[in-house]
Amino acid sequence: MDSRVIFEKGNVGRKTGYIAQPAIPLREPKALLPESYVRQDLGLPSLGELEVVRHYTNLSRLNLSVDTNFYPLGSCTMKYNPKINESLADMEAFCNIHPYQDEQDVQGALGLIFDLEKILCEITGMQRFTFQASSGAQGELTGMLMVRKYHTTKKNKKTKVIIPDSAHGTNPATASMCGYKTIVIESKADGLIDLGKLESACDNEVAAVMLTNPNTLGLFEENILAVSEIIHKRDGLLYYDGANFNPLLGITKPSVMGFDVVHLNLHKTFSTPHGCGGPGAGAVGANEKLLDFFPAPLVDKDKDVFYFNYDIKHSIGRVRGFYGNFNVLIRAYAYLLRLGQEGLVRVAQNSILNAGYISEKLKEHYALASSKPSMHEVVFSCVKQKEKGVSALEIAKRLIDYGMHPPTMYFPLIVKEALMVEPTETESKETLDNFIEAMIKINKEIEENPQIVRNAPHTTPVKRVDEVRAARNLDLRWQKPGALF
Ligand SMILES: *Cc1c(COP(=O)(O)O)cnc(C)c1O
Repeated sequence: MDSRVIFEKGNVGRKTGYIAQPAIPLREPKALLPESYVRQDLGLPSLGELEVVRHYTNLSRLNLSVDTNFYPLGSCTMKYNPKINESLADMEAFCNIHPYQDEQDVQGALGLIFDLEKILCEITGMQRFTFQASSGAQGELTGMLMVRKYHTTKKNKKTKVIIPDSAHGTNPATASMCGYKTIVIESKADGLIDLGKLESACDNEVAAVMLTNPNTLGLFEENILAVSEIIHKRDGLLYYDGANFNPLLGITKPSVMGFDVVHLNLHKTFSTPHGCGGPGAGAVGANEKLLDFFPAPLVDKDKDVFYFNYDIKHSIGRVRGFYGNFNVLIRAYAYLLRLGQEGLVRVAQNSILNAGYISEKLKEHYALASSKPSMHEVVFSCVKQKEKGVSALEIAKRLIDYGMHPPTMYFPLIVKEALMVEPTETESKETLDNFIEAMIKINKEIEENPQIVRNAPHTTPVKRVDEVRAARNLDLRWQKPGALF
């Protein structure tokens, strides 16, 4: 493989094209524009079409991706992205509309938002949803700004937010962006929330408890109703981080567990390929307590006409321009309609079954982070392997040699040498068995020939990158002396 960057390839003036000269002679830009407006030489590479195609195709093949390999990344999972959703999102009727068009000309798009909201309300038990936020983190911020407005409108004096130590890092970040102090409570040894500690941390100044259930250890918080009672007694609210909602679909609802406000990552749970920063949609739903605080506008219907409703009493305002990443909503809507109620339940059941299968098959080789049964993901703690001189990171890297994307590593932070595996609901038993076999082989290698694991991966064009140096001395430019780049 040619490892040169594209700027090092090609030659001045090179292009592919046997194109006839135009009948009307082209005029030089200099003849039409003042000198200062004429574009100078940008130093862009000049290549033939085949060279460009090969360059990018070869680059794309250096990656492990869901389309090429098993991808058991826990928490921020790339779940199932049916290809048909891509075609639907690509329909001209959707792609060629503009947010400045009159409502009457985009009734279909508004209808889609309206229907998607109804479905998500049914699934979660919330009363309304907004789709403005472009990511899970932005959804959290939206939800917590609504919580803050709830309290300021009621003149509640609230200063803090309680978050368990297993939480996703965005939870404390969101709480502090809303001006609250974060109170972290330690989980019990089994990974579940400690009710005693919650009770003693909870006073009248607590604005909310932010939780995810199943939690980041993949465990169902059995005492969720008690948590709900503790926080609600003090007029605090219960926030649900539903970034990964697949294990509960059609089985239970956040409303049943006492949650007041939720965000769902449509790009994780409801089929949008994501990564590298986008695109995403953090759908935020809330119950009757928070209806007056939604970002404006929401989509409503009067007789048979859909319209943007800006009339929201104490709206927190906008959190984003226009109406969110509409293309992500199309995919989520198509996905939900295709699954139907029955399909949703099977997604949940199979996501749990697949993680449970891996957990059972590997627990004698790798220590489980908790003795409680896992839901859609399972966390291992590679402490035994670490004692033998091989870290979780090295095990993850070795999986690449076996043709698999590494699982999430060192998260949640409370588990030493954590490997967090989410197989997802759509992988076959054969794929799961291959993964299990690779993990068992790696464990044997650690006994017999740890060096091979320690230095993995061996099969990739790029081996181990110096991550510290890459972070401290980030330099993405290709440097040609004297060139613009
Ligand atoms: C991914 C994730 C988030 C954040 O979502 P983004 O879209 O990456 O901003 C929040 N909480 C949990 C549990 C997540 O897995």
